[in-house]
Amino acid sequence: MSAPIIVAVDGPAGSGKSSVSKAAARKLDFAYLDTGAAYRAVAWHVLNTGTNPEDEQAVIDSLEEFGYEIGTDPDNYFVKVNETDITDAIREVRITDVVSKVAKIPVVRQYLGDLFRHIMASTSKSGIIAEGRDITTVVAPDAPARILLTASEEARMARRSAELPQQSQDQTASALRARDAADSRVSDFMTAADGVVTVDSTDFTYEQTIDAVVEVIRSRTS
Ligand code: C5P
Repeated sequence: MSAPIIVAVDGPAGSGKSSVSKAAARKLDFAYLDTGAAYRAVAWHVLNTGTNPEDEQAVIDSLEEFGYEIGTDPDNYFVKVNETDITDAIREVRITDVVSKVAKIPVVRQYLGDLFRHIMASTSKSGIIAEGRDITTVVAPDAPARILLTASEEARMARRSAELPQQSQDQTASALRARDAADSRVSDFMTAADGVVTVDSTDFTYEQTIDAVVEVIRSRTS
């Protein structure tokens, strides 16, 4: 079988990259890899084992017992650590609040980057869409289709607020800004690197965004 087509999608929090990438994968009958889930899973594992997320060496040591599994079928998405299903738990605010701390550790990034490349290469589908912050630049810089999915800060805040009705809009907005600021010290996902196509979804509906992403993938890979 020939090597799978790799599609890299990056973007800030609230840009819609997870739901859009998943829907585009469904349309193309590709696999889908949510890389943010792995950083969230490390954060969950760190908290679950009573490890201090500020202690870099302790976080690195905790990777020895990190049995990670993720579903790459867009219709069967799950995340597990050591057989525990944490698909919903990794979306909790307590995880979102610490994830940037573990994501800034270079050894963690190297470890997860290798894991992502392995998952991408072993998919049984004809292609895989991997989304995150550094997929277009570090994890898969040679992918034939690389997309930066952006949206104005206002649109991103509004979308995230709709997903988190239990939080006030101000709380959601400041948490999102703080996370983008911390993450952008590690990866540049606000500007497109050379050869990366920007899709700005600010004035697009969800369906229009999916169509725009699928169009870029088709034009780059056919
Ligand atoms: O995409 P999501 O919001 O689930 O990502 C959670 C966190 O994982 C980000 O805030 C960032 O700290 C980290 N991340 C990363 N590199 C990626 C994907 C996610 O550093 N490729």
